[in-house]
Amino acid sequence: MKKEVDTILGQIIHPETGLSLSESGMVESVALSDERIAVTLALKKARDPFANSIRKMLTAALGEAFPHMEGKITVEVKEREIPPKPQAPDGAAHAGRVIAIASGKGGVGKSTVAANLAVALAGMGYKVGLLDADIYGPSQPTMFALEDYVPGVDMQQNREMIIPAEKHGVRIMSVGFFINDDDALIWRGPMATGALKQLIHQCRWGELDYLLIDLPPGTGDVHLTILSELAVDGAVIVSTPQRVALADVKRGISMFRSEKIAVPVLGVVENMAWFTPEELPDNRYYIFGRGGAAEMAREEGVDLLAEIPVIQSVMQSSDDGVPAALSDSPVAGHYREAARKIVDKLEKTVGGNVKTCR
Ligand code: ADP
Repeated sequence: MKKEVDTILGQIIHPETGLSLSESGMVESVALSDERIAVTLALKKARDPFANSIRKMLTAALGEAFPHMEGKITVEVKEREIPPKPQAPDGAAHAGRVIAIASGKGGVGKSTVAANLAVALAGMGYKVGLLDADIYGPSQPTMFALEDYVPGVDMQQNREMIIPAEKHGVRIMSVGFFINDDDALIWRGPMATGALKQLIHQCRWGELDYLLIDLPPGTGDVHLTILSELAVDGAVIVSTPQRVALADVKRGISMFRSEKIAVPVLGVVENMAWFTPEELPDNRYYIFGRGGAAEMAREEGVDLLAEIPVIQSVMQSSDDGVPAALSDSPVAGHYREAARKIVDKLEKTVGGNVKTCR
């Protein structure tokens, strides 16, 4: 019996590494008796997307080889409890946690949320990087008044490294630093993905506690490139309450949750949740519908991180290059609260390797 089990363990191949279970040292224990066959596998990688299919393959192969043991075969797959640190981009001495900011549609305020979360985290004492990967409409140069920033290049270990801008305590790299508005259309397909890879790996981030990535809206190749180049620890989804926006948001959540990507969704930010005119501060007008994103978050089993009203100062401050979270207005509190929830959540889900900040 042992020999047959060993043969099977040598035949099942991990689809990603191309190595069999025994070759890759994944077999932790095999217990054989007339009463049971119990195999325990210990995965090499945290959140291995193939965990389930490997367990199924092995259970089926054992069931086929030992039909008389039906119901007595167990295959346990142990996931790594403490995930390895995310793969730091080459230019980062240490990227603590990587957070993707995504949205189902454009224009819902994803970049505004990304900019404000970045300054809120910096205000909490963390070292923060912001990578604007929204190739269809890079807006971080405007949000931080960096339209004229021309990135310099620095040699680091015989490699050219691009120097990010630094503003309000945030290091910022944007595809917008390299293209004129008119050129945006040429950023498609392989060129876009190649350039993004370069921005990810050839940016001299230095030491970071959090790297935020402002993704393009929707789901597509650019997302896959980024999510395969960097180990992203969590995603934040921004949506308006509008029903029409929600189907796209659900698609986004499914993308992050898919086996191939397997990035935890940290929560949803409902942006433009209501409007309050200055002269009627107690009135709330639900101009884009009421609580749609909050309800969808509940349905999908993800947290609602913040509800942010439509506020002229949010738009104005974005246009002026001074994110609203820097002010002492009530909306700044919403962003800080969302940032705090994200920090807490990441510490719970992936373990806190980020130093404690005040
Ligand atoms: P996206 O990144 O989703 O395309 P942006 O962040 O660029 O969206 O926001 C689109 C527009 O909406 C910008 O002009 C921005 O200033 C404005 N905006 C975003 N959030 C708010 C808000 N809470 N209140 C008022 N204006 C907002």
